[in-house]
Amino acid sequence: MTYTNFTLETDADGIAVVTWDMPGKSMNVIDMSVIDELEALVGAVVRDDVIKGVVITSGKAAFSGGADLTMLEGLLKDFHVKRAQDPEAAAKMLFDGSRRLTLVYRKLETCGKPFVATLTGTCMGGGTELALACHARIAADDDSFKMGLPEVKVGLFPGAGGTQRVMRMTDSQQGMQFLLQGRTLRAKQAKSMGLIDDVAAPKKLVEAAKKMLKAGVDPVKPWDKKGYKLPNGQIYSPAGFQFWPAANAIYRRETFDNYPGARYLLHSVVEGLQLPMDLALQVESRYFAKVLQTPEAANMIRSLFVSMQELNKLARRPADQRPNRIKKVGILGAGFMGAGIAYVTAQAGIDVVLIDRDQAAADKGKAYSDELLTKAVQRGRSTQEAKQKVLDKILPTTDYAELSDCDLVIEAVFEDREIKKTVTEKAEAAMKPRAIFASNTSTLPITSLAEASQRQKSFIGIHFFSPVDKMMLVEVIMGKKTSDRALAMALDYIKAIRKTPIVVNDSRGFYTSRVVMTYIREGLMMLADGVPAAMIENAGKMAGMPVGPLSLGDEVALDLAWKIVSATRKDLGVKYVEGPLDNILEDMVVKQERFGRKNAKGFYDYKGKEKSLWPGIPDVVGQPKPAESFNIEELKQRLLVMQALETARIFEESCLTDVREADVGSILGFGFAPYSGGTLSYIDTMGTAAFVELCKKFTRKWGPRFKPNKLLREMAKTGDTFYGRFPPKANDGESQEAA
Ligand code: NAD
Repeated sequence: MTYTNFTLETDADGIAVVTWDMPGKSMNVIDMSVIDELEALVGAVVRDDVIKGVVITSGKAAFSGGADLTMLEGLLKDFHVKRAQDPEAAAKMLFDGSRRLTLVYRKLETCGKPFVATLTGTCMGGGTELALACHARIAADDDSFKMGLPEVKVGLFPGAGGTQRVMRMTDSQQGMQFLLQGRTLRAKQAKSMGLIDDVAAPKKLVEAAKKMLKAGVDPVKPWDKKGYKLPNGQIYSPAGFQFWPAANAIYRRETFDNYPGARYLLHSVVEGLQLPMDLALQVESRYFAKVLQTPEAANMIRSLFVSMQELNKLARRPADQRPNRIKKVGILGAGFMGAGIAYVTAQAGIDVVLIDRDQAAADKGKAYSDELLTKAVQRGRSTQEAKQKVLDKILPTTDYAELSDCDLVIEAVFEDREIKKTVTEKAEAAMKPRAIFASNTSTLPITSLAEASQRQKSFIGIHFFSPVDKMMLVEVIMGKKTSDRALAMALDYIKAIRKTPIVVNDSRGFYTSRVVMTYIREGLMMLADGVPAAMIENAGKMAGMPVGPLSLGDEVALDLAWKIVSATRKDLGVKYVEGPLDNILEDMVVKQERFGRKNAKGFYDYKGKEKSLWPGIPDVVGQPKPAESFNIEELKQRLLVMQALETARIFEESCLTDVREADVGSILGFGFAPYSGGTLSYIDTMGTAAFVELCKKFTRKWGPRFKPNKLLREMAKTGDTFYGRFPPKANDGESQEAA
């Protein structure tokens, strides 16, 4: 057989080197052709008496990004078509199809000849599972190496032997954490967990693997020998009784049972560890086929893998715009956000001019980067040299003339129209004619801010999230006059700093801030309805939100929420409908001076990292009713439905124009229940008609804010889904790389 993805060369000592190097791809991924060729390769190795052992290595910088998830999507599509005619045959097809890789890896593991994998750069998902099936692993001893099984993050779990081998190779607690969190390991950690055997200099890996093979590598795994014992003993043992019930409790605490991927992972581990390997793999495959069929997996793969990659490849970039190489960026305001933006920009190798009102404030902004980089050096994730290189890129100053050669200037001064106007004018006076000006405002409409500009076509919103270094989303806002050239520049910049962009049209609060405010508002409305505060917070977390709505209110700052409510009331005039929310916020901010985390007093009391609900809440909102008077499922739904409904309204208003951006933006921007696939996937999965009915029920029960909008009512009538009615444009380019 001739191979397209691999080469095989055998040396004089009978050691074959299999080099995995897929043509036309930047990363090795597992697709059908790789599975076929790997199977043939193992057969060829077994048949060739000259070959005594095999080194599997990569011809690329990285070992592998894992399985091509579009292959699984294809398998699922076939399954759904077939299921309509013959459910049993369809189930068998899905089971057989999804376990082919498992069987090839098992064949490699039991073929009788030793395989050693050499690992460099990224080693993820199915790539890690291939390495684990080998008889030994040597990893590159450098910073670029990272190994992981991140499948739970896209609603799945490692289904090609990963759950079984990890748990037979390492300590139960570390193994479960690694699998359930989808964590990435560095070489040192992977070695201490027993998942790799050794490290070597990247260029000496194959040599080291050959040496290892010559010294003797056992081709029979411990679990295929008689008398094998699990690292921490059997499940049903005193040690097992200590660990597994607690593991189940932690799983519930962390997931609220919202993630079938994590649930079936736990099943697969607990049941598989009681069986010999072949049967254990069968159990794993059964759960894998099961999880593949869940809407959660389908939605998460679509939003967190396919759509996210499409957005990262700038699906929304105007095709006729030439690419921009951004060399220098100016940042106005070196406060909390400006300092963070300076850090991520300098990290991407771009020069930064960081301006504030006085030199001390500008220096303080740069000191933030110093702090983050010092921590990275202390943790062994960077070097002194690399740190200095980044710091040298940031020029803290008060001198606007330094902006003269910037390609892009981003303002992050106080959220105040007048101040923003002044800095816009001062910056534009110094900027070169073709440079772009961006505002990082959280809520002020871009079109109105652009009025301060002499070049409104070059004025755009680039809205970061805090903390800037951790949050992956950036929301780009088009003002009425913003040009495609400004959009292309903003997107090229976001790609350069390796974040995920969404593009929205202008409106108050844009997309993310507007929806986040409805979540906080719904929490406050629940308080007004007499729901106990603790129950509201738990409902939020149980629904899959990262924090409860009251806690988020404290984080965003209650005085800011009060300012936004007051400004909206002023702007809307008689159209503004006052509600209990206004009274609660006014009381908290004006009377009680409780602003949230920023003054350590909000709906919670804060002491350092500790926080507890403020006992005085009933003094502001009245005594709560007994928890039994409320249905927790309904409270969870209220919180999610409100955000999804607001998204549908924003979509109807054409502030959002792409379903992928709505979904990805909701998960990355404000942590909307990731298992749902995002705000619009939430509606599609429930079915538009059912969603509209629920909105109507909530309108009757809780008020007119739940009234479904026209677009939703229309879609309910025709049975449309968002993805069906507004299919996203297909992306060209190389096929997706993996998890
Ligand atoms: P901040 O108060 O921490 O920082 C503002 C900085 O601007 C201060 O250092 C201040 O000295 C400086 N400044 C004020 N007037 C100036 C002037 N005339 N010239 C130069 N510098 C001046 O505020 P922040 O939280 O960083 O917010 C900045 C902007 O980012 C606001 O528009 C805010 O709405 C937006 N934003 C904030 C967040 C957040 O979570 N904090 C998130 C997204 C967007």
